[in-house]
Amino acid sequence: MTHPTYPHLLEPITLGAGPDALTLRNRVVMGSMHTGLEDHPWDIDKLTAFFTERARGGVGLIITGGYAPTKRGWLKPFASEMTNRLHAIRHQRITGAVHEAGGAIALQVLHAGRYGYHPLSQSASDKKSPITPFKPHAMSSKEVDHTATAFAKSVALARKAGYDAVEIMGSEGYLINQFLAARTNDRDDEWGGSAARRMHFPVEVVRRSRELVGDDFPIVYRISLLDLVEGGQTWEETAELALHLQAAGVTVFNTGIGWHEARVPTIITQVPRGAWRSYTARLKQVVDVPVCASNRINTPELAEDILAAGEADLVSMARPLLADPAFVAKAMDERADEINTCIACNQACLDHVFDNQRASCLVNPRACHETELLLTPTMRKQTVAVVGAGPAGLAAATSAAERGFAVTLFEKSPALGGQFRLAMAVPGKEDFAETLRYFTRRLEVLGVDVRLSTEASADDLAGFDQVVVATGVEPRMPDIPGIDHPSVASYAEVLSGAVVPGRRVAVIGAGGIGVDVSVFLTHEHEDLDDWMAHWGVGDPALHVGGLTEAKPRTPAREVTLIQRKATPIGIGLAKTSGWAHRAVLKQSGVTQVRGATYDRIDDAGLHITVDGASHVVECDTVVVCAGQDSVRGLYDALDREAHLIGGADVAAELDAKRAIKQGTEVVAAL
Ligand code: NAP
Ligand code: SF4
Repeated sequence: MTHPTYPHLLEPITLGAGPDALTLRNRVVMGSMHTGLEDHPWDIDKLTAFFTERARGGVGLIITGGYAPTKRGWLKPFASEMTNRLHAIRHQRITGAVHEAGGAIALQVLHAGRYGYHPLSQSASDKKSPITPFKPHAMSSKEVDHTATAFAKSVALARKAGYDAVEIMGSEGYLINQFLAARTNDRDDEWGGSAARRMHFPVEVVRRSRELVGDDFPIVYRISLLDLVEGGQTWEETAELALHLQAAGVTVFNTGIGWHEARVPTIITQVPRGAWRSYTARLKQVVDVPVCASNRINTPELAEDILAAGEADLVSMARPLLADPAFVAKAMDERADEINTCIACNQACLDHVFDNQRASCLVNPRACHETELLLTPTMRKQTVAVVGAGPAGLAAATSAAERGFAVTLFEKSPALGGQFRLAMAVPGKEDFAETLRYFTRRLEVLGVDVRLSTEASADDLAGFDQVVVATGVEPRMPDIPGIDHPSVASYAEVLSGAVVPGRRVAVIGAGGIGVDVSVFLTHEHEDLDDWMAHWGVGDPALHVGGLTEAKPRTPAREVTLIQRKATPIGIGLAKTSGWAHRAVLKQSGVTQVRGATYDRIDDAGLHITVDGASHVVECDTVVVCAGQDSVRGLYDALDREAHLIGGADVAAELDAKRAIKQGTEVVAAL
């Protein structure tokens, strides 16, 4: 029966034909994401639980993280590979469990090429990537030939392991891209030298795979629609490649945007939702097989819209399925307002993986910890008071209610959200509002007694069996002469709209919030076309790799961002998004001052000393972003046992990831 709200998204689709044809129950693909669990054989049960929970949640097709076809194709030393029968046998555990849960699963075969973080890495040429320290070995013609066959063998092993399909990773700048682009391929043998010969390698990979697995086994190929690097492919080359690959036996095209070394953000929060859909639509005009859209699609509404517009046949969402394993089931039951939406922060997923830690999710700390962080129904129905409705308190209240406790949530202000409410005011972080929508709805569904505008006292908490104190933080106001000058405001006052700064602003403190506030202050309104123009994204039919000259921004204010440390500003920001925030500061003309001492604030502005010389930063407003102090008055006044969490526990380097995780863990242990 056609679904009334998501008729396209929840419609089945059959991939391929013949006995191996694969019918998916809907068009939602959980895109490949390396979680770190793939790399250790002893983590296979955790990985199985991770996939199984998503299969139970109704996703059409799951694609695993990348498995290398050869050791030299590893992402890092001893990383995941699919190279022998024992691997295939071990994976039957995963495929069996996913099938039992009603799902379908494909193995991704990925050769890292010069992105391999190890000394054995190899590539089309010996050009080192800007994001890895190892110079790759340039493959001999024989090694290329051997590697194409190794890909095909991995594909065949995946089939033996019970996978329903495979995905060949041909995007994000890995080995296959390194063969395709002149930037990384300066060979003069049959695998390079002209655009046509650079396509030889991926086409051989698909042709040999098809030969080994027969006509019907679904082969997904993830094609790079837009390389976003100099010396990448042109659209003409991409379209030609797609046709060759289709002829060689590709069943479905998944799509990728940008190499990992690209300096245009492609998936983080500040990228407008659905930014890349028109490129998928373009590929769909070229090929006859189904096409899957991807990148910055995080709601069922947007996914439905893309399919309804005929721009794709399937939609891939990786991080949204990390954030909520029941994404599809909730859409199906008309409970989309209960989806825990991925906010594209990368903080617990990609940042962890790039830091060699197991992935998880900021808004769902159970992700990749399904067998460890359990919210089991309680045997003793106790009453729980949670004080403070920032991320830590919200996570604690909803987790406790989910376990069956009777929960009362006290919040002193008239709204839920705490520091998170401030974060969502930052341009490019609008998606953070989704987390508040999720928690608000969850509190309703779970029947939590929410008391807004209520400052709980020790007496109010006396009757509760358990008390969780999540009273959060307050902005730190440093001891600078003149800090009480009328031109001074805290970041909270500015982001909440209580204070509107003047044209010239000095920002004290260049941590995450100082950078965010600088973006907030300089931001001009931009639509998708402006966003593309500011990042220099052009039509790949006209500009190689889809890169053109960036259009300068017109900042709304003159901002000077200052810190005491001598280190570069923003150096401590997250790995996969910090570079983009630093780039926006530059684009917005923010003056950056480091190694400063704050002397005083007066009518002339902010007086600082840098390298022994005094300066005045002339400004109308000084915004203080100098970290936070814990708010612990209530906790200190309690003469009973209570659980202290979030910023009230430790203010330093507090972020929503730590707050939500701690709130969930404390309650899981009750
Ligand atoms: P933060 O990262 O600790 O930065 C505060 C900055 O203020 C410090 O870098 C420090 O730099 C300065 N400072 C500290 N004490 C000061 C004092 N007494 N006088 C003058 N300056 C002082 O804190 P935040 O920026 O408030 O961020 C809070 C948390 O949110 C952090 O954990 C952060 O990771 C997270 N967050 C992250 C992002 C992001 O990644 N984009 C965005 C927002 C928030 P100097 O000592 O060098 O001056
Ligand atoms: Fe999405 Fe952030 Fe969770 Fe990653 S950590 S899945 S980006 S919400």
